[in-house]
Amino acid sequence: MDRTISSVTNTFSFFTQEYREKMMTEVNITSQMPSALANNEFVLWFQPQYKTATNELSGAEVLCRWVKPDGTIFPPTLFIPIAEKNGFIVTLDKLIWRQAFEKMHKWLDEGLNPAPISVNISRVSLESDSMVYAIKRLDEEFKIPHHLIHFEITESAYMHDVDALISRINAIREMGYSIAMDDFGSGYSSLNSLKDIPLDMIKLDMGFFNSGSNMDKGGSVISSVIHMAQALELITIAEGVETETQANFLTSIGCDIIQGFLYSKPLCCEDYEKL
Ligand code: C2E
Ligand code: CA
Ligand code: CA
Repeated sequence: MDRTISSVTNTFSFFTQEYREKMMTEVNITSQMPSALANNEFVLWFQPQYKTATNELSGAEVLCRWVKPDGTIFPPTLFIPIAEKNGFIVTLDKLIWRQAFEKMHKWLDEGLNPAPISVNISRVSLESDSMVYAIKRLDEEFKIPHHLIHFEITESAYMHDVDALISRINAIREMGYSIAMDDFGSGYSSLNSLKDIPLDMIKLDMGFFNSGSNMDKGGSVISSVIHMAQALELITIAEGVETETQANFLTSIGCDIIQGFLYSKPLCCEDYEKL
């Protein structure tokens, strides 16, 4: 029933064995979430980002991993969509932000010179003011210099109440934090969101622009987007960068920061701290 209602073209669906298995996986994962939270099974991984101009480390994106007691690691692509569907993401997001603030606080305490980290805000969390209060509490509790933590939002959040969304984003920017638009160009409303939402950075996922190895058409789109972002004084980050060709091209058109497997996969905390 859910699937038929959410589909534009289908007017009926068959309940198949495959669908049943998918449902069972979802139920299974959902039932494990509360205990995983209590057992601290959600941990932060870090994917380094590099400045194109100097090849220096410029920061890292915080990416969540679910590490089971037996050592199995669940990727976020498995559990985040389920958590967004059942609402658990609102709790998980807050937990991840707290861990990120704690980690940054620890690094500063130890006298390290940490690069900024960027944390994700789910579109579901963006639907309520409670997210602003949660960040405000962390802000007051940890007093981290604001340039050391950024927040990433996705334009899918733009589809709901735009005025409320803008006021929540403004509240976070007024505290002093920068906001990045994640997966820019993947949704329906990119240009409008760029015009309406107050932003500091945009992230382009190379995966959305490449059709095979042909960079020609995708390349024109990317360079136009980078020029537009520069005109709007936004920092540009390309992610999902996997090849030298992509990196050279992005550098040549003035993209500021690169994140991708070419430089590094997401690292566990220990490996990232060494880096
Ligand atoms: P995202 O925010 O767009 O994160 C980037 C994803 O691209 C990560 O997948 C990263 O590992 C992957 N990636 C990075 N470089 C490359 C590359 O060169 N090639 C390819 N093919 N992929 C690359 P990951 O860690 O599996 O996360 C998937 C998604 O799950 C994230 O997409 C984000 O939407 C969500 N997610 C992850 N951690 C969190 C979190 O802490 N909170 C929330 N709300 N969402 C999260
Ligand atoms: Ca992200
Ligand atoms: Ca992304």
